[in-house]
Amino acid sequence: MMRMLRLWRDRLRHPERYRELPSLMQVPALSREALDRLQRERFDAIVRHAAEKTDFYARHFAGRLPREGEPIRPESLPVLGKQDVRECRDAMLARDVPRDSVRLGHTGGSTGEPLSFHYTPAKHALMLAAMKRGFSLSGWRPGERVMYLWGASRDVKGRGVLAHEHAGWLDSELSLPATSYSEASLAAWHVRIRQWRPVLLYGYASALGELARYMDAVGASPTRPLIGVYSTAEMLDPAQRRLMESAFGCKVFNQYGCREVPNIAWECRAGAMHVFSDMVQLEAAPDGGGGHRLLVTSLTDRVMPFIRYDLGDSGELLDEVCDCGLPFPLMRTSMCRHNDLIRVPGGARIHPSVLNGLLYGRSGIHGYQWVQRAPDRLRLNLVCAPPLAPPVVAQIEAGLREHVHPAMQLEMVYCGEIARSPAGKHRYVIGLD
Ligand SMILES: [Zn+2]
Repeated sequence: MMRMLRLWRDRLRHPERYRELPSLMQVPALSREALDRLQRERFDAIVRHAAEKTDFYARHFAGRLPREGEPIRPESLPVLGKQDVRECRDAMLARDVPRDSVRLGHTGGSTGEPLSFHYTPAKHALMLAAMKRGFSLSGWRPGERVMYLWGASRDVKGRGVLAHEHAGWLDSELSLPATSYSEASLAAWHVRIRQWRPVLLYGYASALGELARYMDAVGASPTRPLIGVYSTAEMLDPAQRRLMESAFGCKVFNQYGCREVPNIAWECRAGAMHVFSDMVQLEAAPDGGGGHRLLVTSLTDRVMPFIRYDLGDSGELLDEVCDCGLPFPLMRTSMCRHNDLIRVPGGARIHPSVLNGLLYGRSGIHGYQWVQRAPDRLRLNLVCAPPLAPPVVAQIEAGLREHVHPAMQLEMVYCGEIARSPAGKHRYVIGLD
C-alpha cells in the first residue's frame, strides 16, 4: 500500500523518468537474437546521426562510413579518447539540440583528468529510468525505497543529482552526502537507515565499505532486511564485498558506468555482470599487454554522442549464458580505480572525489595527482600549461580548507607527466599509508 502511494507520488513528481520505463522494461523479455539485432540497428543509427549532426564526428569519421543501408563495422571507426573529448567537447554537441536545454556535467574520471560533457534533462531522466531497471534485477520494485550514499555535497544539497537529503515517509529516494565521513557520520547514516528503512542502498564502494566496517564493529544491523546493496564508481574488491554482505545481511551488487555514459553493466542475482546492450555497445580491444581495454558506445545519447569511447578501464566480454535467463551479454571488469581516502587531523576520512571537484571546470589541466604528505598537507602534481594563475591556486586552497579540513595546506608541483602505477594505471589520489 505504502509502496503504491510512493510510486504514485514519484510518478507525479518525475513523469519524464516513468515515460522511459515501460519500453526499457520490455527489453529483458527479448530473445538474445532480437536484442543483438536492436543493438546493431541502434549502433548504425547513432553513428550516422553523429556524422550528420556534429562537426566533430563529420571530421572524425570522414571517408570511413559505408553507403547508407550497409552495416557499419565498429572496428572500422577510430577510437574516441578522453583527450578528444577535452579538446572537441563543443564540436561533439549535436547542432539540432536546443541550446537552452543543454547543461554541463563534470567528472574526475578514473584516469585522474577532469572532463566535462554536455547533457540535457532528457538524458538525465533516461539515466535514472535505466537505474530503476538495473535495480529491478535485485527484485526491487518501483516505489520501494532507495538510499544513496553519494556525491559531493553540492550534488546532494541544492538540486541533487539523484535525490534530496530530506525525505519523508512518502519519498522513495534519499541521498546522503558521502564524500566526507567520520565515525560520527557513519553512526548517523546507520541511524538514518534504521529510521527511514530503505530496501536498497546505492553508493561508492569505499563509503559502503566504511559503513559496513562501522556496523560490524558496533554489532549493528539494519532493522528491516535490505534487498541489496549497490556498489558503484569504484573497484569492489572481494574482501570489501564479503564485509558488506555480512554487515548488511544481503547480497551486494556491482554496477558499472560513468557519468558521461551511465548504465553500462549491472549485476544480476546470479552474480553476473550484464551489459545493458540496448543502451550501450561495449567492446574489449586488445591493449597490447595481453589485456583488453573497454570501449563504449552510447546508443541513446543523441546530444553529445560517445562512440567507441575509451573508458580507461580494462575488462573482458564473456561468451557465456547466465542462469538468470536475462538476454543481456556478460562482462567482467578488471577495473583498477584506486581511490585512497584522505585522512585529516582528528582522524576523519574524506572521499577523494572532493579533491577532483576542486579542479572541475579549470581549463588547461592535462593531468593531475593528489598526494597526501601529512594529515594537514596535500601535494597537487599538475600537468598544466601555462601554470594556474595565483587567484586560481588560492581558490583551490580555499576549497581544500572548506571541504577537506580548515588546516589543510596545498603544495603545487608542475610536472611534464604523472607517473603511472606498476600496473600501468593512473592513481589520481594517493593517501597516507
Ligand atoms: Zn544473470
